[in-house]
Amino acid sequence: MLKMKKKKEVEGNRHSGYNFIHRLNSLKMASRKGSRIASLTCKYQLRRGKKLDVEEPIGDVKSIKEESSGCITVKQEPMEQCDVETAHESHSKKRKPVKVKLEEEDITTSPKVAKTERKMLEVNCDWFPANWEKTLDNIRKMRKEVEAPVDSMGCDMCHDKTTSPKIQRYQILVSLMLSSQTKDQVTFAAMGRLREHGLTPENMVKIDDNVLQNLLKPVGFYKRKTEYIKRTSQILLDKYEGDIPDSLEKLCELPGVGPKMAHICMNSSWNIVSGIGVDTHVHRISQRLGWIPPDKLADKKSRSPGKEVRKEKQPYQLLTPEDVRVALESWLPKNLWSEVNHLLVGFGQTICKPTGPLCKSCLNFAICPSAKLKW
Ligand code: SF4
Repeated sequence: MLKMKKKKEVEGNRHSGYNFIHRLNSLKMASRKGSRIASLTCKYQLRRGKKLDVEEPIGDVKSIKEESSGCITVKQEPMEQCDVETAHESHSKKRKPVKVKLEEEDITTSPKVAKTERKMLEVNCDWFPANWEKTLDNIRKMRKEVEAPVDSMGCDMCHDKTTSPKIQRYQILVSLMLSSQTKDQVTFAAMGRLREHGLTPENMVKIDDNVLQNLLKPVGFYKRKTEYIKRTSQILLDKYEGDIPDSLEKLCELPGVGPKMAHICMNSSWNIVSGIGVDTHVHRISQRLGWIPPDKLADKKSRSPGKEVRKEKQPYQLLTPEDVRVALESWLPKNLWSEVNHLLVGFGQTICKPTGPLCKSCLNFAICPSAKLKW
């Protein structure tokens, strides 16, 4: 009876098998080596006393593997054939909410680890874009094939790795400040000139404005960025002993530093994932892929009546980078937040370009809702 009930529930939710695998992969983060989750109320009794409770119909388990790192991987057959949807099919479907429960009283790890583990399990499962895991996998494959400028000249590649961690963090922040409205190649070259001059907060406070401007040229808005770098360097010396602050809020208070830079900086400098950095590529591609929950689009549309927007782009064009960040973070599991920026930036530089995206050679052609649009 129970089996039949499950089967019924499965129908109409054909991707949930894949989503379940993904959620289990998210849970891998929760079972780190040395830490032990004593009990998660549940259905599958795994080794070392780990149990998972997934209130969702699931398919046949193929294998359960515990890796040496302590991660658990559960492979299962999808419940039904997962047909690839065409671009004209609806690309946003309601998913059955899934709850993964962690019983706090059973956690035997330290409070700090337990807190991190609980955070990793926080996934809003109300809505997922169709085929998003397949799409992401395809992007990973395409990114491996072609090297993008961000791979060798991105903001986390411009600093001097032989200098002190404090100066490295400062240089990452400066490269992020230069990168807005500027190509990676131009930022990288300017960072090389700055490093030759001596890129430390002390030197930047002392440097003449004209000299700094000449070092930055042809970075976009180099005059304004000259001012930002000098003011930021002075604040860092006055308030943070020449280091950069280690919180998103304090980073955003610095002149010329916005949320996108702050999120990337937290990740690259402090190894803390505070949110998804949404630059022009992430902003464009996540909308092309239909990765914005419909309620967020509808909301945006109703708040902007009378705006003239090309029909096929409505209401994407109305979304700000912050809208996109909030939308992505509402469904994308947190363990992918740090990866997604780098993936999409390189993908946008090589294939899903702003104008003339190479849709015909894109592995997502069959499943991308924007593949057949005329750009
Ligand atoms: S099919 Fe075209 S629009 Fe869609 S992801 Fe690929 S390149 Fe971008």
